[in-house]
Amino acid sequence: MDAELIAVGTEMLLGDIVNTNAAYLARGLSQIGVTSHYQQVVGDNPQRLDEAISVAEARSEMIILMGGLGPTKDDLTKQVLAAHLGLKLAEDAAHRQKLEDLAHQREHELTPNNLAQALYPEGATTLTNHVGLAVGALLSQGAHQYVLLPGPPREFTAMVDRELLPRLASSDSQVIVSRTLRFFGLGESALVTAIGPIIDAQVNPTVAPYIKDYEVTLRMTARAKSQESAKKLLDNLQEQILKVLAPYYYGAGEERTLAGTVVAKLVAKKLSITAAESLTAGLFQATLGSVPGVSAVFPGGFVTYAPEAKRQLVGVPAATIAAHGVVSAETARAMAIGAAQTLGTDYAISFTGVAGPDSLEGNPAGTVWIGLAGPSGVQASEYHLGGGRNEIRVRSVKTALMMLLHELQAD
Ligand code: ATP
Repeated sequence: MDAELIAVGTEMLLGDIVNTNAAYLARGLSQIGVTSHYQQVVGDNPQRLDEAISVAEARSEMIILMGGLGPTKDDLTKQVLAAHLGLKLAEDAAHRQKLEDLAHQREHELTPNNLAQALYPEGATTLTNHVGLAVGALLSQGAHQYVLLPGPPREFTAMVDRELLPRLASSDSQVIVSRTLRFFGLGESALVTAIGPIIDAQVNPTVAPYIKDYEVTLRMTARAKSQESAKKLLDNLQEQILKVLAPYYYGAGEERTLAGTVVAKLVAKKLSITAAESLTAGLFQATLGSVPGVSAVFPGGFVTYAPEAKRQLVGVPAATIAAHGVVSAETARAMAIGAAQTLGTDYAISFTGVAGPDSLEGNPAGTVWIGLAGPSGVQASEYHLGGGRNEIRVRSVKTALMMLLHELQAD
């Protein structure tokens, strides 16, 4: 199924309001495997709305009209759709009763424009408005399905969640199963480029990338006759995707986090971790601390901002800093080794670098050395991270977690 969304309202064309309804519905549709290649916004003008419907019919199976179901003169959506399809408007008895009860309660007369909110194109299935008064509708004609939804976001989201999506999801008695794959270390455009051919070729499952907290997730949604076949479709696609993106992948699941994944691995292997943090000043340890159960593998750690703290707390020799500088592989390695030895842990991570905005020792902001001491020795890697001060710190922490994950997987 392929749906086109048409938002009706001059306010959107003027930039007075943002078309949040379209974003909400688009996400809901993608989660149940309905694809969508086009959206339109059209003002409260019957002729242009009629044209927009014709344009949508030429390229989409389902046409979803959003807004303009209310009682005012510019609310013309269902009248235009009914005329477009050669249908009369009928009155929904339950909705009329609801309007009458409300009028009675509020002691005012029902006017014809109030009553218009109970009208729907004849032959359509009505969609209940659980939080407002204008009835929605779903109808089929020829090769197309048409949907009418109210504009006010509270009414809109309730109708989408409680009426529309459950009907669409169950309409072909298929199950819909989604899986979210999570990646860190490459941007959305790099990810989409890397798996472009896979994304372009997908109809079922669909794949939707999105980006949050400097990570990229891919949400795959499969439709099939049974849970098992949907799972198979997802497994196949996941395998294709991971052939290309395995180095950046850390796990699947809506609730999964990178820190949670690393901690779970450490717990499973009974391996402990500490850290000595300069530019991140404890952010790595705070991130570990956000994972329940981390105390089993994390005894504590160090914030070693100044060279003196690096020496006193984790024993970095003054000579190392004097010879190589604070922002160096040698200092990062010495910090990691010192931290692991001081607390007797299996692993230690260290951070030294430039969060910015100013440069340090000739290194520009974003230059970061991350050290990792572990059973197989000590390593340090240099990164050049983009963004402002806090972005650099957060990305440093995630980069270190990814280094640690690779190390744990290699074991
Ligand atoms: P009403 O009974 O309020 O007239 P309606 O179904 O006719 O409801 P509209 O008149 O189109 O809906 O819109 C009502 C209000 O809902 C708008 O003023 C706007 O604030 C909000 N709205 C409408 N469409 C959207 C949209 N696509 N995205 C976000 N908000 C919207």
